[in-house]
Amino acid sequence: MRIQNYVSLANFTTWRVGGPADWLAEPNSLEETQNLINWSKQKNIPCEILGAGSNLLISDSGVKGLIICMRKLNGSKFDPSSGLVQAWGGEPLPTLARLAAKQGFHGLEWAIGIPGTIGGAIVMNAGAQSNCIANWLESVQLLDLDSNKLFVLKKKELNFGYRQSRLQEKQFVVISARFKLEAGHNIKNLTEKTNKNLNHRLQTQPYHLPSCGSVFRNPDPLKAGTLIEELGLKGVKIGGAEISTTHANFIINNGNATAKDLKELIALIQKRVKEKHGFMLHPEVKELGFRSKP
Ligand SMILES: Cc1cc2nc3c(=O)[nH]c(=O)nc-3n(C[C@H](O)[C@H](O)[C@H](O)COP(=O)(O)OP(=O)(O)OC[C@H]3O[C@@H](n4cnc5c(N)ncnc54)[C@H](O)[C@@H]3O)c2cc1C
Repeated sequence: MRIQNYVSLANFTTWRVGGPADWLAEPNSLEETQNLINWSKQKNIPCEILGAGSNLLISDSGVKGLIICMRKLNGSKFDPSSGLVQAWGGEPLPTLARLAAKQGFHGLEWAIGIPGTIGGAIVMNAGAQSNCIANWLESVQLLDLDSNKLFVLKKKELNFGYRQSRLQEKQFVVISARFKLEAGHNIKNLTEKTNKNLNHRLQTQPYHLPSCGSVFRNPDPLKAGTLIEELGLKGVKIGGAEISTTHANFIINNGNATAKDLKELIALIQKRVKEKHGFMLHPEVKELGFRSKP
């Protein structure tokens, strides 16, 4: 496995934004991941974990230390007799959803259009249509970034909430996960439902343009997208960043957006919503490489 020096992170995020990482590597196995953690300890540099970069805003000045991108630690195994599914942390969530439907496993039809990895989906408790990854999870195999030891935590130990989990404390690397789905369902029905969900996304979200999905958490019971739309902010631009005209909770990169543009647009939305409604919208997207939070 190669550890690369000075790698642009823009290619590692779906927003296509971000400066260079001092160091970056993509492990293919648990052992390679442990070697990388040891390497960063020996060099005394920080270590950050990346999945598909579909929920990340990375600073224009980049990230110090080592980035471990988990995308290559992928694959999954389905057991039709129990409904148990074992997936590596870097497995794309849409791939798992597609495979599940094809094998008659019900449970992940809602997840088809979420372009993250299993690791990122568990950290974020990714969800859609009133469903979420925690609903189907049994346990996760984790590496502790301090001790570099492997252990298992059960779902109830992960403190899941709306787009929330204990794993956001950044102490652990998700190596693999075990899900309990429902085996033996009609494959044609599952595939149709999965395709329908993807088509719905393609029609209602700017799916072909660089984004990180919904930027803000929904302030229950309200929808962030509706609040932004009602303020007439669809189409507002700062530099290369634009509030999507298709879905107001998406900010798209028109090709030359910087992290600074994105942050300024996020701050503008927060200011306008605060002025009108008296509360702050909180970003769902995570930040990397910034000195302080907005
Ligand atoms: C078009 C589009 C649509 C989207 N729709 C939805 C949606 O409907 N619902 C939804 O919930 N989200 C949605 N998202 C957001 C995003 O896809 C999810 O949050 C996804 O789960 C993030 O996974 P990731 O692998 O990309 O994580 P990243 O963005 O790479 O990382 C997110 C966080 O997880 C950590 N992390 C990632 N992998 C690991 C690992 N293996 N171990 C430890 N920590 C890790 C990172 O350090 C970071 O803190 C959408 C995004 C896009 C671009």
